[in-house]
Amino acid sequence: MKLPRLAALLIAAAPMIALADDAVVRTVLDRIRAQDIEAHVRTLAAFGTRHTMSETASDTRGIGAARRWIKRELEACNAARKGRLKVRFQSHVEPAGRRIDKATEIVNVVATLPGLDPAARARIFVVSGHYDSRASDVMDARSDAPGANDDASGTAAVMAMACAMADQPTDATLVFLAVAGEEQGLLGADRFARDAAAAGERIEGMITNDIIGSPLGDDGVRREQTVRLFADGLTPMIKRVLADQRNQPGEDKFALAAREALTRIALTGGEHDTPTHQFARAIKRSAERWQPDFTVQLVARRDRFLRGGDHLPFLERGFAAVRFTEPVEDFRHQHQDLRTEGDHAFGDLPEYVDFEYVARVTRANAAALTSLARAPAAPQQVVMDTAALSNDTALSWAANTEADLAGYRVVWRETTSAVWQAQREVGRDTRVTLKGLSKDNYQFGVIAVDRDGNESIASFAGVAR
Ligand SMILES: [Zn+2]
Repeated sequence: MKLPRLAALLIAAAPMIALADDAVVRTVLDRIRAQDIEAHVRTLAAFGTRHTMSETASDTRGIGAARRWIKRELEACNAARKGRLKVRFQSHVEPAGRRIDKATEIVNVVATLPGLDPAARARIFVVSGHYDSRASDVMDARSDAPGANDDASGTAAVMAMACAMADQPTDATLVFLAVAGEEQGLLGADRFARDAAAAGERIEGMITNDIIGSPLGDDGVRREQTVRLFADGLTPMIKRVLADQRNQPGEDKFALAAREALTRIALTGGEHDTPTHQFARAIKRSAERWQPDFTVQLVARRDRFLRGGDHLPFLERGFAAVRFTEPVEDFRHQHQDLRTEGDHAFGDLPEYVDFEYVARVTRANAAALTSLARAPAAPQQVVMDTAALSNDTALSWAANTEADLAGYRVVWRETTSAVWQAQREVGRDTRVTLKGLSKDNYQFGVIAVDRDGNESIASFAGVAR
């Protein structure tokens, strides 16, 4: 067939990357079942309270029993799958403070799935839920606090993912994290993030799942096809730079890096293109590709208005970090003593959790994390050529070294759009000129793709030369 000249040119210029479906991602998603999540949420709620300062000696009540059960469950699943999870406690003693009335041992359950590619193993993705709970009074360690939605839902999601992925091949390393002390000031997550930063660990993305239990809002409307993903990498940088100016200017390594990043952002208009924004876009692309009837709603804010969660200690140390939360919260069923007032029941009980919904949110997480842990690293040194003024866009980048690299995908969007709107395959070339697409009007990114169709996080083309 004789092609029109323009079409022939387009095909010649755009070698296609095969749109493969990764069988590993499919296996992981098929293994995530609502009935397992339900069993785990019910078991966690049945410990009575999992308050961070609750008792630890009992085998049936309190936070000690809960964490020993989480660890045993993960070890049992790993053994059944002949997996390679390494499960451990990470513990420290938190001195008395604002929300801690006596020195208290804070214990995280950490399940690490080491990557199989020696060159990619140092790249880490973390997913967390918090297994501690609270009643109306944040210091009340005795009253029942079932915490089914907040946050047995997130803990069960993390356990389901760890179990589903335990024996599956990944290039990068995954860490499945059940943390304590969230309600007392993000203490467990802070400990993990602080240690990771001090050790120079390369965490490329962190997701916290907190209150992912119900599609039913306090307005009575069910929104089963959506979940919110809070993602903003800009404000933590600004906050850290301002704090550094108030304290001892120049002392804080992250603040120095953030100051440089902010300068580049100011020059290039990259305020919605921080690593955290790119991580969130990658999650949305992958989650919606594998679960097309379920939408990840990006919210360009670090968390709900003036509120916080376990991703913040990661953000504040310069890691890309985001938060999944159900579409509309019902505040009668979180941070509340179990009671009835008039016609209204209060308390965070399993009967208000929709386990099918939690399974869907878990699959959104799992699709993104499995795919990213198998994908190439994000392309490095992505440079916009600005040597001569032009209305075209010329990009180049350093070649990836992964053996299963299929090629690169250049993506772009209008400056006011939250998500990539268009893309072009460039094969294994490491430079491309996009004729008539002006860098003045669009944001550009470069994605590396493997032979199974797994996409890396996009690298923002923000560095001018
Ligand atoms: Zn919570």
